Amino acid sequence: MKYRVPDIIDNYRKLCVYCDSIWNRAKEAYPNEIACRKGCGICCELQSVNQIEAYAIRSYIVNNKNLFEDRCIDNDNMNVDTDDTNIDTNDNTDACPFLHQQSCTIYPARPIICRTHGLILRSSEFPLSKQAASCPYNFPSVHPDDFPPELAADADVITKNLVNLNLAFCMASGIDAKDGAESAESRVRLRDLANAPTSNFRNKTL
Ligand code: SF4
Repeated sequence: MKYRVPDIIDNYRKLCVYCDSIWNRAKEAYPNEIACRKGCGICCELQSVNQIEAYAIRSYIVNNKNLFEDRCIDNDNMNVDTDDTNIDTNDNTDACPFLHQQSCTIYPARPIICRTHGLILRSSEFPLSKQAASCPYNFPSVHPDDFPPELAADADVITKNLVNLNLAFCMASGIDAKDGAESAESRVRLRDLANAPTSNFRNKTL
């Protein structure tokens, strides 16, 4: 069977929509239990992505160059007033290169893991877990055992689909992933994407 890149990307986008739909349902069911909002980048420490996600981010940047012109990703505006949660985001030297003034500059194209951060997760390896979800501020009054499983993100399903899509993408694109499509060598640094000529980013921190 021959894989076609547009079809694979279409399926990747469906996976993004699936993750977003879990978020939307969780927010609807627990409107007062979620601290995530624009201006909080506390979980934004991603440093690399696999090839299909790098492609999705590159495409977004190329298609939205006007949004990025003259924007400087500097990660130096970390002193944000996070009054209602007292989140201290100062001195986050591990911040994602796409985080600017505590907001994601590629939000519509953010990777899958960014779409599940803060959700309650479930997996065959662990029961419903808040700890695995990266955000200590979400669902403060909810015990994971009481959380409806259908509102939790199934980490196994999401990861398996992403891995398969990335493998198909690498094969269809002729990307030689010698050590496997998910190996460290095959991953793309977000810093490199942010500094690519097409992005027009100027990164003061480099
Ligand atoms: S890509 Fe966006 S949402 Fe993901 S870690 Fe970076 S700034 Fe945060």
